[in-house]
Amino acid sequence: MTENLFANGDRQKSDSVEPGVLYVVATPIGNLLDITHRALAVLRQVDLIAAEDTRQTRVLLQRYGIGTPLLAYHEHNETALLPRLVEQLKAGQAIALVADAGTPLISDPGFPLVREARRQALKVVPVPGPSAGVCALSAAGLASDRFLFLGFPPRQTTQRRAWLQALAGERATLVLYEASHRVQATLRDLAELWGGRRRAVIARELTKRFETFSEGSMAELAQVLAQDTQQRTGEFVLLVEGSQEAADEATAREAERVLRFLAEELPLKQAAALAARITGGKRNRLYRLALQWQKKP
Ligand code: SAM
Repeated sequence: MTENLFANGDRQKSDSVEPGVLYVVATPIGNLLDITHRALAVLRQVDLIAAEDTRQTRVLLQRYGIGTPLLAYHEHNETALLPRLVEQLKAGQAIALVADAGTPLISDPGFPLVREARRQALKVVPVPGPSAGVCALSAAGLASDRFLFLGFPPRQTTQRRAWLQALAGERATLVLYEASHRVQATLRDLAELWGGRRRAVIARELTKRFETFSEGSMAELAQVLAQDTQQRTGEFVLLVEGSQEAADEATAREAERVLRFLAEELPLKQAAALAARITGGKRNRLYRLALQWQKKP
């Protein structure tokens, strides 16, 4: 029987899993209802679920009455287990890879297995669902047209500060994960190194009972965490708006590039006005620049 399973009207024979395929399955990041029908079907039908934390995954499986065998597959044994899992896939078993929460490989184990499966021409199929970073970004109210997912910052203070310093000029919204016992220190470093005035959002306990979004300047947020211990518990995504200075510089560079072309063809005033309209640059600054070029090309 064929069923209409695709939004574009395509039909598929059934939603059954294929032998020898590695399914990379996203699972909830808190609320157990955040699981797709497809993820449940895959978890029910595969021969084995390789799970980062079998206890955690068992809670999910029990909630949905799924009895598929589980194998603990985490950062400490993933290299050792890799040949065995690849052999099982080659022998025709269907395997699902799941993380503790969210999407596997996103600050979670699984990359060596996916890479090796692909190297050996095995089929790897994603089964999409939640991921804390994108979940936070979708509701934080910071620019989402361009963002940089950074995962966890280094734990050591010196390394963390150097790592953050190198990102200070980034224009995209920055998305970081941080553990509850380090979130305050990281925010303090951020405020110090990126300038306390930049807007930021702390997305805490997403999809859970005490979900909170706190918005403010980095300096304000560092203070919120310092004053309220409750706000330091749970799981966190930190989002920080990109560097406005870097964005202004990029606009100015683009405006100059456009002005160079226009100034060859048009009177300078008109060229400057047009370059400003096209790029969002400042008209008077562009006109002065064009006058300087005329004097000293
Ligand atoms: N693979 C996961 C994903 O797709 O989001 C991330 C796993 S990573 C080991 C765990 C980190 O993700 C946490 O320390 C926290 O920074 C973030 N995180 C996971 N669940 C969260 C939630 N419910 N609320 C806020 N942050 C969360």
